[in-house]
Amino acid sequence: MRIDILTIFPEMFSALDSGVLGKALQRECLTVNVINIRDYSTDKHKRTDDYPFGGGLGMVMTVQPIYDCINAIDPNHNAKRIYMSPRGRTFSHEISLELSKEEWLILLCGSYEGIDERIIELCIDEEMSIGDYVLTGGELAAMVIVNAVSRHIDGVLGSKDSDLDESFSTGLLEYPQYTRPAEYMGLAVPEVLLNGNHAKINEWRQNMSEQITKERRPDLYKLYKETK
Ligand code: SAM
Repeated sequence: MRIDILTIFPEMFSALDSGVLGKALQRECLTVNVINIRDYSTDKHKRTDDYPFGGGLGMVMTVQPIYDCINAIDPNHNAKRIYMSPRGRTFSHEISLELSKEEWLILLCGSYEGIDERIIELCIDEEMSIGDYVLTGGELAAMVIVNAVSRHIDGVLGSKDSDLDESFSTGLLEYPQYTRPAEYMGLAVPEVLLNGNHAKINEWRQNMSEQITKERRPDLYKLYKETK
C-alpha cells in the first residue's frame, strides 16, 4: 500500500519513524510519502493561505498549491483522496479495515480555518474526521489513520494473530492483560491465568471481554449480541 500525506508541516511526521510502524516502513511493508504543499505554491513568497472571503477570523488554505500538488502526484485520479476534516465520516475500526484494502491513499491535512471548499469539489473523494473535536491541523488525524490502517497490512505486525485479537476485531473490547510479577502492591494476577489450562483461560478472557464491553460500551455489546 502507498499513502501520500499532503501537509504544510512535513516535519511533524518524523513520529512515523518510531515503533512498530517505523520498522514496517523500513521493511517496506508499506510506503508513506510526506509531501510539502508549499513546494507547489506559485506565489513568490510560497504562501499557501489567504484571508477568507466574507471576512471572519483566521486564514484559509488556497486552492492553487493543493490543486497542483494533488494533480502532480495523481494526475489520473487513481488514489482514494481523503481530506482530514471535522465534517467528515467518523473514523473507526471498520473504516480502518475498509481503507486497508485500498492500494493508494492520499491524505490531505488542512491548517488554519481549513481549505478553500473548491478543493473538496475538484479533488477530494471523502472527508474523514477522527472525532467530535477540533484540532489545529489535520496532521495528527492523518497519523491516526496511517497508524490504524497499517496494522491491517500484511507484515506490519509481528504476528497476524495479534491484529485479530485486539479490541473491536471481535466486536468486543479486550480482556485485562497481566505480566510478571504475579503479585504487585497486594494485587494478584487472577489465578486462572497462572495454571496453564488454555480452555479455562480462553473462557475467562471471553467472559471478561463481554463484561467490560457490556459495562463500558453497551452500544457495541448490543451489536455483538445481535450479530452473534
Ligand atoms: N474551521 C474548521 C471547522 O470549524 O470545521 C476547523 C479547521 S481546523 C482548526 C484545521 C484543520 O484541522 C482542518 O482543516 C482539518 O484538516 C483538521 N482537523 C481539525 N479537527 C479535525 C478532526 N476532528 N478530524 C480530522 N481533521 C481535523
